[in-house]
Amino acid sequence: MLTHLRRAALQCQVMSDHPVRAQRAESREVVELKQIRTNQPDLADAVEMQLGLVEMQRRVQSRVPLPWIQVDASWLRDQQAAGRPIVRFADIPLEWSDFRLTFRQTADILRRYEAIEPAEHEAILALGRESNVLEPLVARWYTVTSGVDGEKGRDSLPANSPSGLEQVLVLALRPFLARCAESLIQRTDLSAWHHGHCPFCGWEPDFAVITPGAERHLICGRCLGQWPFAPHTCPFCANDDRSRIVSFTSRDGRYRVYACDGCRRYIKAYDARNAARPVMVLVDSIATLPLDAAAMQRGYTG
Ligand SMILES: [Zn+2]
Ligand SMILES: [Zn+2]
Repeated sequence: MLTHLRRAALQCQVMSDHPVRAQRAESREVVELKQIRTNQPDLADAVEMQLGLVEMQRRVQSRVPLPWIQVDASWLRDQQAAGRPIVRFADIPLEWSDFRLTFRQTADILRRYEAIEPAEHEAILALGRESNVLEPLVARWYTVTSGVDGEKGRDSLPANSPSGLEQVLVLALRPFLARCAESLIQRTDLSAWHHGHCPFCGWEPDFAVITPGAERHLICGRCLGQWPFAPHTCPFCANDDRSRIVSFTSRDGRYRVYACDGCRRYIKAYDARNAARPVMVLVDSIATLPLDAAAMQRGYTG
């Protein structure tokens, strides 16, 4: 098994060190992540893992066509009124062989940085090899967790699924779903959407940004879509009693945490007012790991 894992890791290494990368300028995200590694050496492992994921996702995403999602206006109104998102499973430009590769490489990266256990990794790879099992599993997981058909529920994965599976699915589906959000974000009226979950894929927000105009936008933890949300309302339980929202900033004032005394959850935000660059969620979520520690120390969960 060791040999197998080593081979998988090596294969992944070879792919991520493909010469194509040398011909291409490093993305702003990669530059910023490397800067964090230099300035905060204790975050080096987290940065390395994120670099692996970012590069892999960028490679896949560049191959995924921008979908044209045709949405009927009255259907959209009904969806929004019911708190349901827009993207149906069939709308996702999913190419299964590409997805299986992304799924396997994601599992390999998580294993390499010990974010999942060896046994879970094995079980996840085994699932990835069985397309007749994986494909319906992904379709059902997306449909149930998005709530797009109104059947939002808890049994989104089969019983006895490996515990890291959902994390791998979220990351592996991202390059495909992100293209959906990209295609919809400019032409969708979100003024009627006041929910704490994503209007595109129905997932929870994982981060937020305070815009230069002092609005707060939430950022989806799955498709990275953004939507405006009341600045002092908890996206997880809708608590809008300001006296029960605790807020504190990082020492440099770039980041803020909003923690809810109703449900004890928190969300982090990048303050883009007077900032040198826009929010980069894949960078900022790593730069703010010390804030997670601070929030957890105060008894809140992410
Ligand atoms: Zn989303
Ligand atoms: Zn709450």
